[in-house]
Amino acid sequence: MNNKHPAFGFSTRAIHHGYDPKDHHGALVPPIYLSATFAFPTAEYGAACFAGEASGHFYTRISNPTLALLESRMAALENGEAAVAFSSGMGAIAATFWTLLRPGDEVIVSQTLYGCTFALLHGIGEFGIKVRHVDLTDLAALQTALGPATRMIYCETPANPTLRLVDIAAVARLAHQQPNVTVVVDNTYCTPYLQRPLELGADVVVHSATKYLSGHGDITAGIAVSSHAIAQRIRLEGLKDLTGAVMSPQDAALLMRGLKTLALRMDRHCSNAQAVAEALQAHPAVQWVTYPGLASFPQYELAARQMKRSGGMIAFELKGGIDTGRRFMNALKLFTRAVSLGDAESLAQHPASMTHSTYTPEERAQHGISEGLVRLSVGLEDVADLLADVQQALGKCARAVARPTLLAAHAVK
Ligand SMILES: *Cc1c(COP(=O)(O)O)cnc(C)c1O
Repeated sequence: MNNKHPAFGFSTRAIHHGYDPKDHHGALVPPIYLSATFAFPTAEYGAACFAGEASGHFYTRISNPTLALLESRMAALENGEAAVAFSSGMGAIAATFWTLLRPGDEVIVSQTLYGCTFALLHGIGEFGIKVRHVDLTDLAALQTALGPATRMIYCETPANPTLRLVDIAAVARLAHQQPNVTVVVDNTYCTPYLQRPLELGADVVVHSATKYLSGHGDITAGIAVSSHAIAQRIRLEGLKDLTGAVMSPQDAALLMRGLKTLALRMDRHCSNAQAVAEALQAHPAVQWVTYPGLASFPQYELAARQMKRSGGMIAFELKGGIDTGRRFMNALKLFTRAVSLGDAESLAQHPASMTHSTYTPEERAQHGISEGLVRLSVGLEDVADLLADVQQALGKCARAVARPTLLAAHAVK
């Protein structure tokens, strides 16, 4: 395991890494460099910057001091060498794909993915890149799928929205038996506080920093973390030329504010979600509930090994499927009906008609996203209030489910 930032613990790095007030007039909080361009002391220096011979900021689409501080902090938290900031998670993912894949290459992706990542894969397919969906929990299937044209393995763990896990260390070990295969992990659901894929052998970590990393629902942002060499390519190809998906320095400052409380927030998300998942599991209106912290979770042992705690996301289905699921969502008073996740506010959404409507019904069936699945992002409110809201909404569903059952029983007689 590499350990490039051994001196301080996680929260200390999240708050202090890369910044010393004495270099900035004593300012406790890093200044925001709102400048698109940077002055060259001489024409020769400017030419050297463009030739890659001088380091230094010269245009914000390539680098900026505020973005550079955020990037070094994210690299320190993921235990990578370098990071590149983007204006959204999709910006980070698209730039990583466009940089590392060429026509004729193959990318192996896990079965279930965030809806827009799934749509992006359809898009790159039209540019001559072959996309293979493989169940990455089946290492024999991965071994079979790996071929001389394979250049990338891409997965989310836990996957959005099914929460299915991928054993990152096992997949990376298999992938790296072959040269030129890059393992990319979307770590949005966990954040580096709960899981650090680079330490497990992955090559690139991507994030929708819109979610837990920022934590307050007020920006869209993305991050890619990797070695210096890969980050430099992603910056100069994927960011600078192929997507231009540049994060604004103001958003970088908001993101760094969010990072300061990341560990505290994640611990509260985890304990609140555990309580909500247990309440769902105990309720007669619930058909099934998936949460990595429940003993009934099919990959409970892997979750315990790979993740520090179980996260803030829950997937479940009510008896009666999506009709009952809609009734439940409409009955919620404290949970907000909204997509996105990782905010202080608890959120509820229906993937089949919302975040994962980019899949056809057949594709959803094939990728394990059931039509009745309801996704909860459990926030930071008082757990008693969250449980009361879920219980009152479930109460309405239980009555709704009970009635047709009684009628059915009556009809039999
Ligand atoms: C939201 C999300 C994305 C996309 O990020 P944006 O910031 O919305 O562009 C990618 N992956 C996962 C797992 C997500 O939840």
